[in-house]
Amino acid sequence: FGFKGCQKIRGAQIRGLLEAKDFFLFDCDGVIWHGENAITGAAKVVNALIRRGKNVVFVTNNSTRPRENYVNKFTRLGFTDVMLDQIFSSSYCSALYLRDVVKVRGQVFVIGCEGLRMELLEAGIPCVEETDDPDATIYNCALAPDVKAVLVGHDDKLTFLKLAKASCYLRDPECLFLATDNDPWHPLSGGRILPGMMMVVRVLKLDPVTIGSFKLRSTHISSGSLTAALEVASGRKATVIGKPSCFMFECISSQFRGVDPAQCLMVGDRLETDMLFGSNCGLDTMLTLTGVSQIEEAQEYRNSDLTTNHSYVPDYVVDTIADFLPAFED
Ligand code: PLP
Ligand code: CA
Repeated sequence: FGFKGCQKIRGAQIRGLLEAKDFFLFDCDGVIWHGENAITGAAKVVNALIRRGKNVVFVTNNSTRPRENYVNKFTRLGFTDVMLDQIFSSSYCSALYLRDVVKVRGQVFVIGCEGLRMELLEAGIPCVEETDDPDATIYNCALAPDVKAVLVGHDDKLTFLKLAKASCYLRDPECLFLATDNDPWHPLSGGRILPGMMMVVRVLKLDPVTIGSFKLRSTHISSGSLTAALEVASGRKATVIGKPSCFMFECISSQFRGVDPAQCLMVGDRLETDMLFGSNCGLDTMLTLTGVSQIEEAQEYRNSDLTTNHSYVPDYVVDTIADFLPAFED
């Protein structure tokens, strides 16, 4: 498939690529849907790939829902053939990480939405109970004695008390510090955004803890997703489960026999998460222009003298995954 880097492809080239690959990884928001609205044509594309016997999985950094909710959402939006085992969310992978990699003994303190807690409980990992006591403060609240990990994900009910408790638990060097993702922000409709949780954690300078004897290959040390000012102010790095960490791909490889990175195509809308994830895992990457990143940003990374910037450069670019549709016509 010719030269590498930002190749805008169409027609016969897309057809050739779809024939050459047998494993497709799709980011969700910005590729498959925007919030509650499916991207036009995306359902047809996904259904056609599945019906042609291609392996299709979804990799989302959104930790707020359990996987069952995603199955329902796919069905509701017309993706009729998507099943639970095709969904790899940062909450599900966090649960696998705690259960299978670090084999956590003790409780996990979760900053996150109910869906994150549900994935952990489903995997048999006990979480510290939330108290709704409006009078609780960091001065008078109880701290659980056996917290072995703090897991931070997007939390729509974030309070100062939760952050204060997390920072107390993290004083213990045995207590792991994990984050579901390090997305700096998430797009909403109408130009609004949600701030990413890593940003909040970094402002508070919570210390990450290295993971005992476990090899860091499975984790990603975040960098560059925050402003230079915050990086300098905190000087901290955190262990991230979601994209661009390879751990999500390890989860996929362990659940689908014989996944060959050379046979995979990672399709995403964000250079710093999806394209970097693909290149970290040795996958070919495709940027779709229906989401966060623009082709000009990709070209800037490609033209950069800093070779580390080349990891953000997609191999291929399409306007939308609906551009795949003609490839399915006989
Ligand atoms: N996390 C939250 C809370 C979000 O709202 C979103 C996007 O809507 C994401 C993460 C990113 O999801 P994805 O990786 O599917 O683009
Ligand atoms: Ca996305």
